[in-house]
Amino acid sequence: MKQGKLIVFSAPSGSGKTTIVQYLAKQAELNLGFSVSATSRPKRGDEIDGKDYHFISIEAFKKHIIQGNFIEFEEVYTNNFYGTLKSEIDRIWALGKHVIFDIDVEGGLNIKKQFPDKTLAIFVQPPSIEVMEQRLRGRKTDSEEKIKERVAKAQKEMKYATNFDVILLNDILEQAKKQAYQLVKNFVTQ
Ligand code: 5GP
Repeated sequence: MKQGKLIVFSAPSGSGKTTIVQYLAKQAELNLGFSVSATSRPKRGDEIDGKDYHFISIEAFKKHIIQGNFIEFEEVYTNNFYGTLKSEIDRIWALGKHVIFDIDVEGGLNIKKQFPDKTLAIFVQPPSIEVMEQRLRGRKTDSEEKIKERVAKAQKEMKYATNFDVILLNDILEQAKKQAYQLVKNFVTQ
């Protein structure tokens, strides 16, 4: 396989998309490689550099921008940049795998626009903004200010849901995982 497919999971944070993406990435028969984004945000408790993200400084991030190394990037939150390096997609395709992304809504639509035929873009919808807020609080990784910022962003992002190929409601996680598995399986085998 010279170029594989691209599977994008986008959603407001706290929607459970990371859990779904990590579950899918572990299913060997789907042949997926997780696209490790670069970010300038600080590492959270149990995250691993090079596995969850490439944690880099703002200066290093800006250098990549100037050098044109990103397929897409964004300042998702103030001073917190996130982006997909072109080299990351090439690395995964070179392994003969499809790429699975956990990125924000604009980033997801950006990838879909650049590779319309190769991309399955899935929007993970939390049951409600209130549930999402509870999940963010439960995670205990963000300050009150950050949670507010994420909730405000989520309200905007929900409006883009209909631009995705599929909207996946994550009410009951186990069901959402099964549905996600089937969607991806159909797409990679078609
Ligand atoms: P978190 O800080 O919770 O890990 O991520 C914040 C948001 O940034 C999430 O919606 C996450 O999916 C998104 N994100 C992660 N990597 C990328 C990326 O490479 N590009 C874009 N546009 N968003 C990303």
